Amino acid sequence: MPKICVFPGDGIGPEVVREALAVLRAIEEISGARSFETEEELLGGASYDVHGVPMTDKAMGLACASDAILLGAVGGPKWDPLPFEVRPERALLGLRKNLCLFANLRPAKVFAPLLDASPLRRELVEGIDLMVVRELTGGIYFGEPRGIRTENGVETGINTEVYTRPEIERVARVAFDLARKRSRRVTSVDKSNVLESSELWRKIVTEVHGRGYTDVDLSHMLVDNCAMQLVRHPKQFDVIVTTNLFGDILTDEASMITGSIGMLPSASLGGRVGLYEPIHGSAPDIAGKGVANPLATILSVAMMLRYSFNRDAEAGWIERAVEKALADGYRTGDIYRAGSGVRRVGTVEMGDVVRKNIMTNTQGEVKR
Ligand code: NAD
Repeated sequence: MPKICVFPGDGIGPEVVREALAVLRAIEEISGARSFETEEELLGGASYDVHGVPMTDKAMGLACASDAILLGAVGGPKWDPLPFEVRPERALLGLRKNLCLFANLRPAKVFAPLLDASPLRRELVEGIDLMVVRELTGGIYFGEPRGIRTENGVETGINTEVYTRPEIERVARVAFDLARKRSRRVTSVDKSNVLESSELWRKIVTEVHGRGYTDVDLSHMLVDNCAMQLVRHPKQFDVIVTTNLFGDILTDEASMITGSIGMLPSASLGGRVGLYEPIHGSAPDIAGKGVANPLATILSVAMMLRYSFNRDAEAGWIERAVEKALADGYRTGDIYRAGSGVRRVGTVEMGDVVRKNIMTNTQGEVKR
């Protein structure tokens, strides 16, 4: 039986992961058999509080021995004063690096019932379905030298952006392969006018394209322009491939096109084990209040079924159940705009509605 390692993490992490796991159990219920083994471990601040480290060897071992990982979020102000090496976010970087999760897929899709939740005008966002492929294990988040030190009596903070040819080639191939299953358009985003690492990025993405992907349209864009174009005319994009830092920032921006950061799932791929998590953080401002939007985590389970377990049909059941919940007017606070036929619900109720939709919507399909 495939094994899923579950890291609920901190803040709203445990609240949204609980709903996502219940959705997974609903899928199993329809299939009539338990088809996934799950095992939970502490990660991030929750792990630091108990073990003094953000990720224990046991937790890392569990992740490596599993077939997929479902993660909530880590971090929060409680742990901000900690030394950098034991901050909750270090656990995430360690997981990504050790599991070789170099490609982070972040779809930004606008659900029709949420058109009015986007701060952008309806005609700009209607039909948006773009995919950002963010390089995840290189760049400035990992480059050396790094640190804060005193040089000539002046406190100095240092980080280094490093990209190698193999790192760029492999993530470019992921983006081109994905584009082939979509509308065959890739925009590579860099800052090649000022950064040498970006100059190399652009050169190698162009080479990979020329060597085997000329059936895909490739264009290049500077990151500052891309940030502007994402709000000016987001429909021009299909697949965006970019570096770790630029992808981190651009996907938060793209999330607002869809209405809320609480809607966006992600998949981190590359090694044997895929990692699935919402793109949002631990949202300390709303943690424990039962109001967090669980849909990004629920949709992350759909990505897990699709990418790690080749279960496209079940992934579709979840996506359609989410769409129906929204069409029926259910909204958590982050996507709520007062209006007729719209009902504000909490985390648990939103999860319940999605599960109920899965059970009722799929009955006909399963019988067929
Ligand atoms: P955040 O994503 O946690 O929150 C930003 C804003 O979005 C907040 O107002 C929050 O309430 C809201 N929000 C986020 N998710 C939501 C949801 N599901 N439903 C409704 N509203 C939601 O970002 P932040 O405040 O910058 O970071 C908080 C902590 O999370 C920090 O410690 C940060 O380091 C950490 N973080 C972790 C991850 C991760 O685990 N992958 C990612 C980003 C940030």
